Amino acid sequence: MFDKVLIANRGEIALRIQRACRGLGIQAVVVHSEADRHAQYVQNADQALCIGPASPGQSYLNQAALLFAAKVSGAQAIHPGYGFLSENAGFAERIEAADLTFIGPSAECIRTMGDKVAAKRAMREAGVPCVPGPDSVMPTDDASILAIAREIGYPVIVKAAGGGGGRGMRVVKEESELLDAIALTREEARLAFGNPELYIEKFLGHPRHVEIQVLCDAHGHAIWLGCRDCSLQRRHQKVLEEAPAPGIDPELIAKVGERCAQACRQIGYRGVGTFEFLYEDGEFFFIEMNTRLQVEHPVTEMTTGIDIVQQQLRMARGDVLELRQQDVQLNGHSLECRINAEDPITFMPTPGLIQRWEVPGGFGVRVDSHVTTGYRVPPYYDSMVAKVITHGATRDEAMARMRLALSELVVEGISTNIPLHRDILEDPAFCAGGVDIHHLERWLQQRSPT
Ligand code: ADP
Repeated sequence: MFDKVLIANRGEIALRIQRACRGLGIQAVVVHSEADRHAQYVQNADQALCIGPASPGQSYLNQAALLFAAKVSGAQAIHPGYGFLSENAGFAERIEAADLTFIGPSAECIRTMGDKVAAKRAMREAGVPCVPGPDSVMPTDDASILAIAREIGYPVIVKAAGGGGGRGMRVVKEESELLDAIALTREEARLAFGNPELYIEKFLGHPRHVEIQVLCDAHGHAIWLGCRDCSLQRRHQKVLEEAPAPGIDPELIAKVGERCAQACRQIGYRGVGTFEFLYEDGEFFFIEMNTRLQVEHPVTEMTTGIDIVQQQLRMARGDVLELRQQDVQLNGHSLECRINAEDPITFMPTPGLIQRWEVPGGFGVRVDSHVTTGYRVPPYYDSMVAKVITHGATRDEAMARMRLALSELVVEGISTNIPLHRDILEDPAFCAGGVDIHHLERWLQQRSPT
């Protein structure tokens, strides 16, 4: 049990977690770097503590400073948000060793899911459909490697077991390229992740990114909260998300969702998590699990009516999950546009002073943002400044509300990607629903050939 939570994060998610705490009567301790001192959510916090200079390594990633802040403030639990230390098993262990609660799954679950080979093996054992290819690390002798790839069939993708953030992967189209590609990827993985182990699987040519949200208590109950489509990506970064994934048979989604919940029961998963899949030609293929809250959680909240962050706090507190699977009713459609401080054409970050900030409102519109007029977007962190979320009875209605919301959103002083979102909402292929993960980059190429 806890009644005071330290939020080890910044920006919109720090505010989102603060709100969830307040809703449950839990006190929130907000920690911040020197660069974030003047943000409104810091000023409005029950308690705010500066943990270091702007550089993330000295503040939001500084485990000793965070643990010290928890001790000084009397917080009994730490919420890591997303990014930063949210999937760091060592941090979770240090928190538990200090007799505090880590708001997330056990360090062991984080570790298993952080190793993509171990994760794939665990999921396959639990009956979750995976991308064709062995769930073991790649052997080192050339003959065995060539045999494995031949059995999978080209094209294949070589991936680092410890990879993340879209790095440590290489697509191989034919056998003559395989051994060189493996040597290169192995060296990259050794340098970037400190783990040279690789694995190999079938490369899917035109998949969609569809993910399933799960919610689990510490008493063996697990449910799934529908799916999200996050196929609109640029350089593996999600740009716009929606729930549910358009045009996929709800019965198939329910079948996969149930497998995910079952996998959670099997590995003793606690809290919230997301199973990421590639979806191609009517089939789901597991790629990885995120053992944390995700940026795009609001579209699931809007379609289920469930406050995912409050549930996450409750599960960490040891509450029994009161919701049953049949209580999860999926209602209508929701979209989320990530508003970034970046140039809409070049995508270069545009930190600086926001001179005017006016957010949209009205029925079916939600804005999650820590920004206010006079806020200075710091250059040190992720460039996302807001999430505009809409809900409608149908996808068309959610899109119409998004167009209206984006027309009301006014940001002056810095450039943002609002024009990009407006254009996407006019793209016939996106409007029809179900574009693949390459669609946005192809569309950007056509818009401004380089
Ligand atoms: P990361 O942890 O680095 O995000 P993922 O395993 O989630 O790595 O893969 C990131 C992206 O790489 C996916 O969203 C997809 O675009 C692409 N990808 C990964 N595996 C495959 C595959 N087997 N076939 C096609 N694309 C893939």
